[in-house]
Amino acid sequence: TPVTISITVIGVIAIVALVTVAVLQNKPVPQKYKYGIVLDAGSSHTALYIYKWPAEKDNNTGRVEQEHSCKVKGKGISSYAETPWQAGESLTECMEDAVKQVPTKRHFETPLYLGATAGMRLLHMENSVASDKVFQAVEKSLQKFPFSYQGARMLSGQEEGAFGWVTVNYLDDRLKQGLETTGALDLGGASTQISFVPKNYIISESPSNSVTFRLYGNDYNLYTHSFLCYGKDQVLRLALAHQTKSGPGEIADPCFHPGYSESKNYSVLYDSPCVSDRKPQGAPVTFHHKGEGNFQQCQEVVKNVFNFTSCKYSRCSFNGVFQPPLHGQFGAFSAYYYVMDFLNLTDTSVPLTTVKDKLAKHCATPWNQIIQQHPEIHVKYLAEYCFSGAYILTLLTEGYNFTSESYSSIKFIKKIKGSDAGWTLGYMLNLTNMIPAEAPDSPPLPHA
Ligand code: AMP
Repeated sequence: TPVTISITVIGVIAIVALVTVAVLQNKPVPQKYKYGIVLDAGSSHTALYIYKWPAEKDNNTGRVEQEHSCKVKGKGISSYAETPWQAGESLTECMEDAVKQVPTKRHFETPLYLGATAGMRLLHMENSVASDKVFQAVEKSLQKFPFSYQGARMLSGQEEGAFGWVTVNYLDDRLKQGLETTGALDLGGASTQISFVPKNYIISESPSNSVTFRLYGNDYNLYTHSFLCYGKDQVLRLALAHQTKSGPGEIADPCFHPGYSESKNYSVLYDSPCVSDRKPQGAPVTFHHKGEGNFQQCQEVVKNVFNFTSCKYSRCSFNGVFQPPLHGQFGAFSAYYYVMDFLNLTDTSVPLTTVKDKLAKHCATPWNQIIQQHPEIHVKYLAEYCFSGAYILTLLTEGYNFTSESYSSIKFIKKIKGSDAGWTLGYMLNLTNMIPAEAPDSPPLPHA
């Protein structure tokens, strides 16, 4: 009947209306994010990282992630000691990029930090007036942007090591879940850091190597050390300086490829507090750097930059620095990754003897062949992979005491879940209080 039909029509309309309202109500609201920016002013270059996290969600769920990164063109800020304004200027392009990446309405509340590491530590040792001027120039440049500028400062070696460890374990979700943590191995151009939680924490024999944290309700007693001058660029200087001892004028270097031949400036080599005291008297202006491509001999050269003789603690790594026994898994990042990735040696399940054989083959390959095989890679990097590979293996095995067995507990990594491994994320999480000391309250149990 017409009445029944009209009731049915009304019913259908009502249902459609209800469904529409429900769908509209359940429509996901666009996610709002907060942002943070950290500049990593390293010895060889500066990189800008933008992090983001959901604005409304509780921020202790391990959800901060890297949204964007920008590599600053040119060298590290410490190389502008004589023209500090250029250090500030150099950051402009990446900062303008950041202005576009972060939504305009979030600009004013987005914290902006710059942290400088070993390149600036060395400049500060050499010439503190110059390093202050570089910081002033950088500060002036960063303040021009619409973000919430929080300062530019030098990180201590402990901070650099500890925040690298926080980053790795935060990204792996190990802190909130109270899981066994992963150690962090970081290799820069001017310093290198090792950080891990030792197995049986005994009150540290060396308080300067000990950092304690309370994160999400768990206590961590971290061992950390930063070796200034043991980044791969400074170690190369140390190795060359050592080799010039045998007589000025020429270095026949087993860590460079056969056929490699360059005239280099002594003053450039000794222009660093890491080696300046080793400058020979009356050295000529230039020396001839010649490759020999002999991995065995290269290992001997590299070993010479370590001092294994003195240790006033129960155990040491090298140069008289305390180190407890290694424990757990390790993530090795920055230059560890660049070098081992280039050499196709990131697989640590391969026996160490095989790794060394492969590296020996690489070192013995003639320089012209290396250049032909890798036209896309900058020759400065290309020339140094043999040396850097030999340094990395020596540092890990002889320096830190990784054995053929424990070598496989190292993972060479660049990123974890899309975020770069490095100290920057840990630094920002700390300064924004984004990792609480206590675990968030668990939801109340439902009533029976
Ligand atoms: P820093 O600037 O102190 O963070 O150091 C980074 C180190 O990694 C420097 O020794 C750089 O020369 C090195 N590096 C960066 N990119 C590469 C690459 N693609 N291959 C080899 N070494 C690299």
